[in-house]
Amino acid sequence: MPQKTLADTLTARETIYVNCGHPMCCKSTKLDIQALIDRLGRDHGSMHDDLVGLFVCSNCKAAGRDRRQVFFTCIPDYEGQQRARNRDWKPTFEGGVGVDCLVGRRPGGVGVRRLDTTELGEIRVIP
Ligand SMILES: [Zn+2]
Repeated sequence: MPQKTLADTLTARETIYVNCGHPMCCKSTKLDIQALIDRLGRDHGSMHDDLVGLFVCSNCKAAGRDRRQVFFTCIPDYEGQQRARNRDWKPTFEGGVGVDCLVGRRPGGVGVRRLDTTELGEIRVIP
């Protein structure tokens, strides 16, 4: 059993880029983990040594450059980690710049003034 499998990588929502090691090229492509699983199986390793033999840079091949070993960049699921961290946090607008409060503060305002939408972006005041 490999240390880390493609299934693990998919579950962790990690992004793996495969990079060409040729200094003239430096091509980098995002790996489609699901496609790799379809081809290699869920239990195939996803560590460098497990994958390194599988990739040849098509750019370099087309350009007739000598074949260099590829290397991998693994990017953790920052967004997911962020989501988990913020799960219990909800923004509140109490005491903030509510529409009512803006209207209420107009000195000597007669009735409800229709605010210019550019002032508040998407917020519209319904008369
Ligand atoms: Zn290349």
